Amino acid sequence: MRFVRALGCSASSSLAMVLSIGAALAAPNVMLGALDRSGAIDADDQCAAQQACIDSYLWSIYERTPKLDTIKVPERRKVKIKRKGKVRTVTKTFTTLVAEDFAWKDPAAAQHAGLSLSDYVIGGMDRAFRVTLYRALRAMDAAGLEPGITSAFRDDYRQTLAAGQKARADNSYHGGSRHGGYGHGLAADLVSVKGATRAERWASSQELWKWIDAHGKDFGIGRPYLDRDAPHVGPIDGKEYISHRGGANTQQAALSEKHHVALNKKHHRLAHRDGHRVVWHKRHHFALRKSPHAG
Ligand SMILES: [Zn+2]
Repeated sequence: MRFVRALGCSASSSLAMVLSIGAALAAPNVMLGALDRSGAIDADDQCAAQQACIDSYLWSIYERTPKLDTIKVPERRKVKIKRKGKVRTVTKTFTTLVAEDFAWKDPAAAQHAGLSLSDYVIGGMDRAFRVTLYRALRAMDAAGLEPGITSAFRDDYRQTLAAGQKARADNSYHGGSRHGGYGHGLAADLVSVKGATRAERWASSQELWKWIDAHGKDFGIGRPYLDRDAPHVGPIDGKEYISHRGGANTQQAALSEKHHVALNKKHHRLAHRDGHRVVWHKRHHFALRKSPHAG
């Protein structure tokens, strides 16, 4: 109840909620029929029984989160290396991490869609996913992880504003038209807001992502791309998660991710050795640009 008040749900609606839950408890069959089939009933959580209360909570989590992203900017530089006793000049690709404030993008997209910001970012998500996300975030809050949402629903227009995004704008599980558009968003980007500096919040975010890998599936969420797009989470029974993580458990998925990175490094070295450096770099750049997260 504490946070319900903090969110500004009125005392009278809270009372009405208590009364209706009391009545429903007296007739359990009615209660099961009336509420979300994903099991969003928690005897001591009256908020979970009300979509408006869930949405207010999600909005408060979104609102408190700085909208900062770290984008990867590939840059090619000439460097001197020593090979077989000779000094040669080769071109290497370095990735610079640049901070980007994308706080303006959701309001611009909401205005474009003719919606309030909260109706856009929260209301654009699938209803059942909002309940799933609510429960997972409450658990993170209870674990002291101070979760934050940097991005939730994004339509095709919003995708075109994503930095470096060259992939199809309609293909995002955040709510691209190819996956149903508004009301069907099945992804959210989660970080931790714990810490006074960006470095501290980055460290807390890593704790949060570890927690999701260890406990997320108990609440129905997972990270389909693991550390390739760390903040991105979706329902574990959703197409995006299944197509990237399959039925494997999180540990196996994490191992295969490490394997994938190791393979990439090996490929990179081999590519250099075989003189296919340019081709590899082109593919590598493409992979960087294609990151499904990107602001
Ligand atoms: Zn995402």
